[in-house]
Amino acid sequence: MDIKKLKLYRDKCYINGEWINANSKENISVNNPASLEEIGTVPKCGKDETILAIESAQKAFPEWKAKSARERSNILRKWFELIIKNQEELAQIMTIEQGKPIKEARGEITYGASFVEWFSEEAKRVYGDTIPDPMTDRRIIVLKQPVGVVAAITPWNFPSSMITRKCAPALAVGCPVVIKPASQTPFSALALAALAEEAGFPKGTINVITGKASEIGEELSTSPIVRKLSFTGSTEVGKILLQKCSSTVKKVSMELGGHAPFIVFDDADINEAVVGAMQSKFRNTGQTCVCANRIYVQEKVHDEFCEKFIEAVSKLKVGEGLDEEVSSGPMIDEHSLAKVEEHVEDAVQMGAKVAIGGARHSLGKNFYQPTVLTGVTPKAKITFEETFGPVAPVYKFKDEKEVIELANNSPYGLASYFYSRDIGRIWRVAEGLEYGMVGVNTGLTSKAEAPFGGIKESGLGREGSKYGMEDFLEIKYINMSGLDK
Ligand code: ADP
Repeated sequence: MDIKKLKLYRDKCYINGEWINANSKENISVNNPASLEEIGTVPKCGKDETILAIESAQKAFPEWKAKSARERSNILRKWFELIIKNQEELAQIMTIEQGKPIKEARGEITYGASFVEWFSEEAKRVYGDTIPDPMTDRRIIVLKQPVGVVAAITPWNFPSSMITRKCAPALAVGCPVVIKPASQTPFSALALAALAEEAGFPKGTINVITGKASEIGEELSTSPIVRKLSFTGSTEVGKILLQKCSSTVKKVSMELGGHAPFIVFDDADINEAVVGAMQSKFRNTGQTCVCANRIYVQEKVHDEFCEKFIEAVSKLKVGEGLDEEVSSGPMIDEHSLAKVEEHVEDAVQMGAKVAIGGARHSLGKNFYQPTVLTGVTPKAKITFEETFGPVAPVYKFKDEKEVIELANNSPYGLASYFYSRDIGRIWRVAEGLEYGMVGVNTGLTSKAEAPFGGIKESGLGREGSKYGMEDFLEIKYINMSGLDK
């Protein structure tokens, strides 16, 4: 399928309501990770175009925030409807540039759209407060106001939903946005911008800029006009951006790396646990920050779980995502593949057994076999570094206290999962896990209504839900005095 023939294909940046090239006229190449062929190019923008985008957003801000909440809500609603109407084409664009199976891409478009729908409704519910003042002639009033120009830097693993999850709440409360999508997956972002244009967002409220990440990132994180930076990506880059944002004391949201424990207790429904482990580990070929990275199984059920899990893994069909039968696509690039290889080799050297997979796939290119490792030792790299690939390391454990300690022994604190039918244990473990999100008897927890986010080195702030909107608001307190005269 030729991406260029799709009607939502755009190969220019969207700034101030116009589709533009880089000043230098230079482009960057975008490849299909399954075929490794070039599918198109996007402008290689830098500092000057970023300044233009930021200033366009600044100009759009007064008019956008002055609109009534209902007006903003209506435009967001229109955007949501257009995304749903164009779901198939958006999913195709995503699969071609990102590689994920088309069914997953369709799911991501629905998921991404759900943020636009949810925040189109929440736009009308930005409530303030009144607080009794200790003096009788005074009143305390609390207002919530949009923070200002928002920058969003997004990753390639969820090319559409990471944009809507950031931009929908920002736009809902009155903030214009400048989006810098990952260079591997810019077409999903530009297609969303095309639909935003059709939905009627005023010029400058949504800007998408492609190009050199470090140069654009530098401007977005140091410009005094940008009042909030929302980033999803690696902990390494997040830390750099946090430092840069300190120079202008911006608000920040950071959705960074994760290293999710997935615990199966001996009272669990093992079949359900296998379903959850498959979803959590192998969705998006293991390239999600909430992926199960360490699967801890209690002694008594260890062998039964492994047997059923390996059988489920053997049924995954690896291939090009546009094939409806495929359930596991390519990895994003050679670099990611090399990391997976390194983790598997290291784990095996440390004593792990390859139960299934364990090598590059015969399809070649960026394909790796879905892999299960058993008997993984705590010192193996895979136990503490994020793998971001289709490898499931399984560990055996004895009791609850031990596994909570093992699970918490990580600098990360994003998602965690466990399976149990014992209500006392469910409370104890859910409260004991040092993670921002805990899935109990489920391997999927992300939804627009819930606060997504991590603790420790997994990030700052929350996305989705009423909490996700607070991150784009400033609190203003007004003290009215002299009211008894
Ligand atoms: P990943 O490992 O998932 O690719 P990265 O953190 O490298 O995660 O990338 C996430 C996003 O951050 C992408 O949009 C990428 O282009 C951008 N990015 C990478 N390096 C920088 C940087 N130095 N400054 C700003 N953005 C960056």
